[in-house]
Amino acid sequence: MIEIIDKLKDIIPDGKIYLNEPMKKHTSFKIGGPADVLVIPQNRDELLNVISLLRKENIPFFILGNGTNLLVSEKGIRGVVIKLSSLKNVIVEGDTIIVESGAPLSYIANVALLHELTGFEFAGGIPGTLGGAIVMNAGAYGPEMKDVVEKVEVLDEEGNILVLANEEMRFSYRHSIIQEKDWIVLKAWLNLSKGKYEEIKSKIEELNARRKEKQPLEYPSAGSTFKRPPGYYAGKLIEEAGLKGYSIGGAKVSEKHCGFIINTGNATFYDVVNLIEHVQKVVKEKFGVELIPEIKIVGEK
Ligand SMILES: Cc1cc2nc3c(=O)[nH]c(=O)nc-3n(C[C@H](O)[C@H](O)[C@H](O)COP(=O)(O)OP(=O)(O)OC[C@H]3O[C@@H](n4cnc5c(N)ncnc54)[C@H](O)[C@@H]3O)c2cc1C
Repeated sequence: MIEIIDKLKDIIPDGKIYLNEPMKKHTSFKIGGPADVLVIPQNRDELLNVISLLRKENIPFFILGNGTNLLVSEKGIRGVVIKLSSLKNVIVEGDTIIVESGAPLSYIANVALLHELTGFEFAGGIPGTLGGAIVMNAGAYGPEMKDVVEKVEVLDEEGNILVLANEEMRFSYRHSIIQEKDWIVLKAWLNLSKGKYEEIKSKIEELNARRKEKQPLEYPSAGSTFKRPPGYYAGKLIEEAGLKGYSIGGAKVSEKHCGFIINTGNATFYDVVNLIEHVQKVVKEKFGVELIPEIKIVGEK
């Protein structure tokens, strides 16, 4: 590992390489043990060079957006975590926003607003990055990323840069082709339409207010814990199963929105995993419905 760190230092500037970095500092759940190494590439070339080095040296790596859909284990992540938060260049060409994958969705929504482009309001309150949102086909209040993505530039497992059209992304509910492959989203073209500043602004404000009213934003979480089972709402099933406010250690089924498991302060990885399993078991017993986690559970078990 020491050798690798020296090689990483040739690519990434000082101060952007962290050793034994607690992942709880980089996840919205505020849970997770150390990553052996965490790096923050400052531009696309640094990202491509780091990936090429790690692949050549056979070092495992994990791509981190904003860590808002993740539950990281207590033992943390072996190898290198590559955090994309500095890759957020954006260009606006007509009705299209071309943006790098580390850009926060709220930032892109603001760019759209300033250019009076409508269609991205739904994503403004989702706390992830563009890359994470494309991987997850994130969505809210109806629209999903698949409705605005025109094409996506990815790095494949062999180091080729490909541009995939929307139809090639295999978008479906909280799913895209990136979850099936070892690919990295580099940037995307978002196709929006002309709108009016005041209307776009009030739509964003209205959706944010709805979020604040319905979701337990005052506690750490990773958003909706489970996918929506076909024909049901996970939160409603959990509430009807009598699990509102049910807790294990510091992990609790939110009283404000039963679809969210929250960290009330000192939740461990196992508190959350045990609570997920308990909720799945009770809902299965009562309603015969299988709840599948939407959040990604990662790290050394
Ligand atoms: C309070 C709250 C509210 C939320 N509301 C919503 C909502 O309304 N709708 C919704 O869909 N989600 C919601 N989420 C979940 C989450 O914000 C989304 O899934 C978001 O898209 C994740 O983005 P991220 O950058 O944080 O990804 P991360 O959590 O960092 O990563 C998620 C996955 O994507 C991979 N990944 C990230 N970037 C890349 C990349 N560039 N290339 C390849 N792989 C990559 C990671 O390796 C990981 O497997 C919410 C979460 C919270 C905490």
